[in-house]
Amino acid sequence: MKKRGLLIILSGPSGVGKGTVRAKFSQDESLNLAYSVSMTSREKRSGETDGVEYFFVSQEEFKEAIKNGELLEWTEFVGNYYGTPLKYVEKLRDEGKNVLLEIEVEGAKEVQRKCPEALSIFLIPPSMAELERRIRGRKTEPEEIVQQRLAKAEREMNMLSQYKYVICNDEVDLAAELISVIIRWHMK
Ligand code: 5GP
Repeated sequence: MKKRGLLIILSGPSGVGKGTVRAKFSQDESLNLAYSVSMTSREKRSGETDGVEYFFVSQEEFKEAIKNGELLEWTEFVGNYYGTPLKYVEKLRDEGKNVLLEIEVEGAKEVQRKCPEALSIFLIPPSMAELERRIRGRKTEPEEIVQQRLAKAEREMNMLSQYKYVICNDEVDLAAELISVIIRWHMK
């Protein structure tokens, strides 16, 4: 029988660069990774494609998915819903893929409760000032949302002790390499 794939949680405050770091270590085919595409009710940002970054749905569709038990975990983040489709994760793990969830801390807590074997990694910014610079650099959201993301980031940073590994994203290549090493270690 095929060995079941790992469940890997990658968290970190909004703007820390999870996507950039992930893009880097995902190039390493020996990690045998599959990205779990989440469902969200937030507006699509320019450059995002349905089914790639997220499955973009309405609030009603999202609530329906919750009601039908289709989500491994879900949360409300700065006024929008985000959740992990359960069936997809299970299917990929059964196929032997190491499935990567890029989710915030509340969702991560829920996944750790349901799947204690999950490998959890938290990415931190070099400083809060640098995080703010990165969030503002995105220039896609109004000030009110930026403030909410920063406040959430402060709260998230206080919850990093729930993670197995904490990595600083000062230098993307280094952070990606460290994550590759950690995943490879747990694949043994
Ligand atoms: P963004 O709007 O910047 O794409 O995402 C906001 C936050 O929601 C990020 O921290 C991201 O990792 C998190 N997130 C994305 N998908 C999910 C999900 O399925 N579940 C949970 N709990 N958080 C998610």
